[in-house]
Parts: sequence; structure tokens; C-alpha cells
Amino acid sequence: MSEKTSVKLKGVGNKFIRLKCKECNNEQVTYSKGSSKVICNICGSELASPTGGLISISGEKIKEY
Ligand SMILES: [Zn+2]
Repeated sequence: MSEKTSVKLKGVGNKFIRLKCKECNNEQVTYSKGSSKVICNICGSELASPTGGLISISGEKIKEY
């Protein structure tokens, strides 16, 4: 289960997204328009990475705000 989910967030405005780490089940909130990688605070796994107008989510997306 290592497939990535790319979510198009272009034009939807700034949102907070709650992500769940697949490695340690840590839940973390990140900003949809972040320009840096989102790293799990607990185990250091990459939860999401920015790719232009998209954010590529490696973890599990729980909720958008
Ligand atoms: Zn983790």
C-alpha cells in the first residue's frame, strides 16, 4: 500500500488538511498550499509533498477544513 494520492487543490483556496501517517497513525494538520514537505512529527515519514499547484499526499487524508 504505497500508492500516492495526488489531490488537485488549485483554485480551491487555502485549506487545512488533516493527514494520518500510515506508518505510525499519527494525525497531523497541514496547510494545502504549503511549499515544503510535510513530515510526520513522530516517525519522520513524508506525509505530503508540494508539486506545483498540486499537493501529493502520501499519508491518509482524513478531513479538509
Ligand atoms: Zn508517522
